[in-house]
Amino acid sequence: MPVNPTPPPDAPERESLKPVDWSDFRDHIATADQQGRRKWMYPRQVNGRFFRWRTWFSWLLLAIMFGGPFVTIHGNPLLLVNIPERKFVVLGQIFWPQDMIIFAVTLLVLLTGVIVFTAAFGRLWCGWACPQTVMMEMVFRKIEYFIEGDAPEQRALDAAPWHGRKIIKKAFKHAVFYALSFLVGNVLLSYIIGWQALYQIIVDPPARHLVGLGFMIGFSLLFYGIFARFREQACTFICPYGRHQSTLIDENSIIVAYDYKRGEKRGPLRQRQTFGERRYAGFGDCVACNQCVVVCPTGIDIRNGVQMECVQCTACIDACDQIMDKVGSPRGLIRYASLNGIERGEPLRLTPRLIGYIAVLTALVTLLAVMIFTRTDVEATVLRAPGSLFQQMPDGHFSNLYTLRIVNKTSRELPVELRLEQPAGKLEIMGGQLVVAPEKQSENSVLVELDRAVMLSGNTPVVIGVYQAGKKLQTLKTSFIGPRN
Ligand code: SF4
Ligand code: SF4
Repeated sequence: MPVNPTPPPDAPERESLKPVDWSDFRDHIATADQQGRRKWMYPRQVNGRFFRWRTWFSWLLLAIMFGGPFVTIHGNPLLLVNIPERKFVVLGQIFWPQDMIIFAVTLLVLLTGVIVFTAAFGRLWCGWACPQTVMMEMVFRKIEYFIEGDAPEQRALDAAPWHGRKIIKKAFKHAVFYALSFLVGNVLLSYIIGWQALYQIIVDPPARHLVGLGFMIGFSLLFYGIFARFREQACTFICPYGRHQSTLIDENSIIVAYDYKRGEKRGPLRQRQTFGERRYAGFGDCVACNQCVVVCPTGIDIRNGVQMECVQCTACIDACDQIMDKVGSPRGLIRYASLNGIERGEPLRLTPRLIGYIAVLTALVTLLAVMIFTRTDVEATVLRAPGSLFQQMPDGHFSNLYTLRIVNKTSRELPVELRLEQPAGKLEIMGGQLVVAPEKQSENSVLVELDRAVMLSGNTPVVIGVYQAGKKLQTLKTSFIGPRN
């Protein structure tokens, strides 16, 4: 379908419809043609120091990602986000729905951290640590190069008619892609339900885990779709972080940037021409080889400046450095730099905006640290038993009945002792000793008896101590209802 169809003669004039300027890179995206069809990206294989560093870093990240579900701290997983059962574990610490405030502050810390980090370092996260980029560029893309070859061979294979060799290569590639997607989907599932539950789904008869199997297949198909077909479109269209980068970075942010002052005016390097002669002729260091464009997985030309599609993968830095080495010019025509750094040679500056972000981040991190360090392993509440008032006992004492709820946030059994601390009286846990099972909540009835002499008219304040092995865990306050004078 044409992008700007000629309107029928009687159609009302729509001022908002502005023709696309195809010569302006900001007026269209690099991965769509003039008919709005997807342009498939064939980035050339890249090599260089940044690629090597990213490869080593990606091995570390992949080891953490795939090994994470099997690592336990005090018997708890490293990370568990069990939304169906509302159970969350971070670094071995169990967080309950009662700890939601800590989660909310943690999210604020992450959000502010992302803003500060992006304002200072641009999309460093996208290029180096985002699971999408790591899996796509360091796993799936490498497999594709291995099976189908570099970009020209891939192009030729796609253009070729379906014959034996093409069918075998494509079938093999997609089978490997699906197997890997299945693995990634299972890893994600084990971060949600735990690897033990995932193992049960695998070994039990399928009919016993239809929902779990559904998620397993659903996640596998989702990741297969993303890594086999959707690819860079996820960063351009879906990822909210990518869409917001233009609001977060400024001219002092460190980004992958082309040094236009050094590079312009572009032009091919003539044989036996020196860079001195080039400069004299009005040319810069960019020899217009286009290598920075052909390696770009998002299909953009970094020489046009900051662009929404750029995931800061550094491929263009490596490609350009190799060209600079070949033509005998210093590396770094494309490099990590701020726009002010390129324009005026300024180093990274702490702008008032960055200082403000850092101040907010520091305050939030402090608040979070206080909340985590003052967080208890046990959370108890005491409420008067619904519908109950007071009772007078045969010995003349008065009694009130309470409901005690205790949440055991640890993964061990918790024997609990209650002491009536104020006023003097008697406290009895109905049903004997109170032991709360690991990661469970208990509900017990508690009877408090007071002598008339210690009671105030109507309501008497009561203080109950919750102890474990002689150590006080929490103090509970409630009131005791008695007759009015
Ligand atoms: S412009 Fe460079 S850093 Fe940005 S996505 Fe393309 S190759 Fe990666
Ligand atoms: S790789 Fe470097 S020299 Fe070649 S076109 Fe890109 S910026 Fe210019």
